[in-house]
Amino acid sequence: MRKRPFDIEEAMPRLRKAVAPYPKAALFELAAEGHTSVFEILAACILSIRTRDETSLPVARALFAQARTPAELAALPVEQIDRLIQGCAFHEAKARTIRDIARRTVQEHGGVLPCDRDVLLSFHGVGPKCANLTLGIVCGLPLIGVDIHVHRVANRWGYVRTTTPEKTMTALQEKLPRPYRIEINALLVPFGKHVCTGTRPKCSTCPLMEMCRQVGVASHR
Ligand code: SF4
Repeated sequence: MRKRPFDIEEAMPRLRKAVAPYPKAALFELAAEGHTSVFEILAACILSIRTRDETSLPVARALFAQARTPAELAALPVEQIDRLIQGCAFHEAKARTIRDIARRTVQEHGGVLPCDRDVLLSFHGVGPKCANLTLGIVCGLPLIGVDIHVHRVANRWGYVRTTTPEKTMTALQEKLPRPYRIEINALLVPFGKHVCTGTRPKCSTCPLMEMCRQVGVASHR
């Protein structure tokens, strides 16, 4: 097939349609359910690290059913937080991280986390992915949350050519139009899970086939 240049303006509506049948990415789903504070989405992002959405989403809901504000979470013993989140990978470390963030939020920020990237990155256990996703989803800041799906798919398109999610974040920050910077994660997580999968991507039925360079896809399926 003769390929056209990759056109992000054309790709976005096709992506929206392609992922419509699938569940939303966990953080966007939680926000749609009303978990719209910086603290909640940051805590949910920490829970999601190295943990599938199918696990981290119900765990986040269960945690927030017990305590959803920094003050409420800071008042819980770390062992109780650990029990609530034990379905997640690294739950002991995550329980300590979330409780520390809750305590510092109460002590240093009057109980409410601000829309401030430097503040979020000052917490042990919070990296650029979670800081950007949280500030994009909750605060509307045009920051790109790059996880393994965004990294893999954007490279397969040939839209970026990078070797790590961190480098992809930098490349997309320079290239991706601002209106798409928050939405790209919401689209590429389900697209990467169901269409442009890690192994055996569904290229033959993919709506982006005519413009995707299929970089690194075995024998151009
Ligand atoms: S054509 Fe294949 S490699 Fe390209 S986006 Fe679609 S599924 Fe992924």
